[in-house]
Amino acid sequence: MNPRIATLDGNEAAALVAHRTNEVIAVYPITPSSTMGELADQWSAEGKTNLWGSIPAVIEMQSEGGAAGAVHGALQGGALATTFTASQGLLLMIPNLYKIAGELTPLALHVAARTIATHALSIFGDHSDVMAVRQTGVALLASASVQEAHDLALVAQAATLRSRIPMLHFFDGFRTSHEMQKVALLDDDDLRALLDDGLIAEHRRRALDPDHPVLRGTAQNPDTFFQAREAGNPFYDACPGIVQQLMDRLGARTGRRYGLFDYAGHPEADRVIVAMGSAVETIDETARRLNLDEDRVGVLKVRLYRPFDAAALIAALPPTVRRIAVLDRTKEPGAPGEPLFLDVVAAIADGWSRRSPRATLPVVVGGRYGLSSKEFTPAMARAVFAELARPEPRRRFTVGIMDDVTGLSLAWDRNFSIEPDDEVRAVFWGLGSDGTVGATKNTIKIIGEETPLYAQGYFVYDSKKAGAVTVSHLRFGPRPIRAPYLITSATFLACHQFDFLDKYDVLETAAPGATLLMNAPFAANEVWDRLPREVQETIVAKRMRVFAIDAARVAKEAGLGGRINTVMQTCFFAVSGVLPRDQAIGKIKEAIARTYGKRGTAVVERNFAAVDRTLAALAEIAVPGTVTATHRRPPIVAEHAPDFVRRVTAVIMAGKGDLLPVSAFPVDGTWPTATSRWEKRNLAEEIPMWDAGLCIQCNWCALVCPHAAIRTKVYDSAALAGAPEGFQHVSWRGPDLKGQAYTVQVAPEDCTGCSLCATVCPATDKADRTRKAIAMTPQRPIRERERTAWQFFLGLPEIDRTALTRVNAKTSQLFQPLFEFSGACAGCGETPYLKLLSQLFGGRAVIANATGCSSIFGGNLPTTPWTVDRSGSGPAWANSLFEDNAEFGLGLRLAADRHTEIARRRLQELRDDIGPELVDEILTAPQLRESEIYEQRARLAELEKRLDELDGPAVTDLLSVLDHLLRRSVWIVGG
Ligand code: SF4
Ligand code: SF4
Repeated sequence: MNPRIATLDGNEAAALVAHRTNEVIAVYPITPSSTMGELADQWSAEGKTNLWGSIPAVIEMQSEGGAAGAVHGALQGGALATTFTASQGLLLMIPNLYKIAGELTPLALHVAARTIATHALSIFGDHSDVMAVRQTGVALLASASVQEAHDLALVAQAATLRSRIPMLHFFDGFRTSHEMQKVALLDDDDLRALLDDGLIAEHRRRALDPDHPVLRGTAQNPDTFFQAREAGNPFYDACPGIVQQLMDRLGARTGRRYGLFDYAGHPEADRVIVAMGSAVETIDETARRLNLDEDRVGVLKVRLYRPFDAAALIAALPPTVRRIAVLDRTKEPGAPGEPLFLDVVAAIADGWSRRSPRATLPVVVGGRYGLSSKEFTPAMARAVFAELARPEPRRRFTVGIMDDVTGLSLAWDRNFSIEPDDEVRAVFWGLGSDGTVGATKNTIKIIGEETPLYAQGYFVYDSKKAGAVTVSHLRFGPRPIRAPYLITSATFLACHQFDFLDKYDVLETAAPGATLLMNAPFAANEVWDRLPREVQETIVAKRMRVFAIDAARVAKEAGLGGRINTVMQTCFFAVSGVLPRDQAIGKIKEAIARTYGKRGTAVVERNFAAVDRTLAALAEIAVPGTVTATHRRPPIVAEHAPDFVRRVTAVIMAGKGDLLPVSAFPVDGTWPTATSRWEKRNLAEEIPMWDAGLCIQCNWCALVCPHAAIRTKVYDSAALAGAPEGFQHVSWRGPDLKGQAYTVQVAPEDCTGCSLCATVCPATDKADRTRKAIAMTPQRPIRERERTAWQFFLGLPEIDRTALTRVNAKTSQLFQPLFEFSGACAGCGETPYLKLLSQLFGGRAVIANATGCSSIFGGNLPTTPWTVDRSGSGPAWANSLFEDNAEFGLGLRLAADRHTEIARRRLQELRDDIGPELVDEILTAPQLRESEIYEQRARLAELEKRLDELDGPAVTDLLSVLDHLLRRSVWIVGG
């Protein structure tokens, strides 16, 4: 019987097996593994049963440590139990993994492998987490693709029951966990064929049971621990054979054959790359291509990494191999080599002569690649093979970056491609909120499940929350698609947001003759002239076909509001040629009926209407033979931005961070603050406009704004000299500073358009209650004018903080926010509080931030929102681990208190040299009121001046802690 085919991602592929083969599932969410737990939870909630007819109990714990503890307990209770995790989550499980392995307890745990935070946090994929548990005694089984994540999830579950060695089954975070592929599903009979009920009964018999009481977890002494630790050796010796038997049994049923180490390539290869995870697919495909020419190369795919079967590795290598490169997707600083490399070296040194007594040992070199989901492409694989062909290949190297510091990196030819001609490769640029990803996933399902074509989808998300750019990479073709890397020669590109063409090099990946589809808010005959010169140049040079549609208008007219996904999906099918047009339209309508059927026929009909209107509104744009545009893409950041922002931040903002060399980066993860002000995201369709005549000067608009994008200032009206035409101001009516000028001003390119300011504004026109002092107004027509007004506003003097006798909700908004333009969701309810705190105390704050939303909108590159005042003071910010912000903050507090004490003592010691009056004033300053803080700042400036004229160790010591004489504010911010 043919297997059922489904299009799904690696997380779902693994979870489909885990849910059917377990009784207890304890979870704690962590990217990129969360989907496995969420799906298991959903399936249990829907009443889906496991193989034995019961619904697995899914419980969410308080942490990954808790999930591991619950799993350990469930296993000791005789249940089949599992969990899913990644990165630090896996590290939190380590103590329990030692226990579970030491007690020889069957467990198949599934990991979407992810980077561990070091100089920075990263949610993306590499093997640093799984490599950090290889000492615990769990077996490590690697899947390289979505199909393997499905198949080897079963092998892991079956092998752990038979071997009693807990199995950690992993696959590459994001690259496999989130890649959609067409997969042949294992049915329940396949699962039963590998899972032995007798072994499950044995596992239950070993459970803690008062009718047959035993004791586990004893404390052992020097006389016994060591021997007992060796007693489990036979189980590890037997494990690889058991895994292979089960792989063979799976292969006999499904035709999909796996080995502990699988070799692919030239049968007489002289050069071989050893690797594990998704990269082996890329290397395999590259080797095939190279072997069509003169090369003799291959790849050894590592599947069972622990227990490491050295004999099986040697047996799998072709005897002709002379040069081996071992690629590790992890970094162990200071080690003689990375883990897989060292294991291969040891295996070859130990065992090669037993295989061929007179043969020379192959040369084995080691390289790092792909940290934090850095791309690994066929061009990079070819560069590694080329390095092996050199007379003296580098012993250690990196590939995929440009290392101009230690010179370790290999060069690669970015134009090398092995993509077949008969594939459709489509790249879609959209916004997180515009439905692009949903529509492209839908497209993959339509093509993958309803046609004989193979389909692959991968989605690159920008980690900003508001206005996140999403780039979907879709491949369709007549053969299985083994290309776990981004598309570099697209046959079709769609730009769902016209403004992207001004910001990003959307056409960079276009193949010659590619088709471009744009959502353009203009009439078809205007579109060409609206394109920046760079875009026109590429279109002409690559002889592209161009189509455009005003998708927002079509969607609106069809009653879909601003949702353009159905419109753009229809356009894709209409122009890409991936399916005959009529067939494709029929399939879209079927998908609409399935997706929206639950919401009623009216919704379905509206979407059907959108499809029909789309076909009428889609227009091909005539491409002239030459470039006609006079305007170019605006610079990414202003020319007067700081050097680092122009050299580094702007490159990342343009989506070209991969091109930055090693030397561009701080060595210890220290980055400048005050960078979000340089990123003009222009997210808002509508922005607030202030009506000075109606305003009652409550400052609520500024108080609630989550992005510090609307601000108020009170200033001397003399500063209005040179104000741009139409710059609004009125006379301030507050008791302090009465009569000075007052302005409410929006930052037009930083506002997210959330409209909270307009919602809270209490001032209305008595003659027309619908008119408020803040009105949301289309941004594009007033962008230039308001940009000029904003620049002028920024140049106005900041308020003299000592002149305010009362600081309250209203007057606090006259202080400069030191938290601005964060990437938080539009309308975020958390950021207004952070912003307010920054206005009150930000100039003397250090922040201990937990991991979560606030660490992402607070510290995610390229630009960050914590900023500085005119004197350069502002919050200093750090994120330690996920949950240790309280302890981390306590440490900061203890350090501050200790240094304050030192500073005060030194001050006393130097009293006569400095001047008793100043010293006494500093030591007795109350520093409670805003004015007192500012008086203390002035004293410290004077102190520093006087210390510059003195010398000696006490002076040096005091200068190093002088800042602590200003009362320091330590914040502990939740995730
Ligand atoms: Fe701030 Fe939202 Fe108003 Fe824009 S619309 S100024 S982001 S509150
Ligand atoms: Fe003026 Fe309205 Fe802002 Fe209050 S909320 S300051 S009334 S614009």
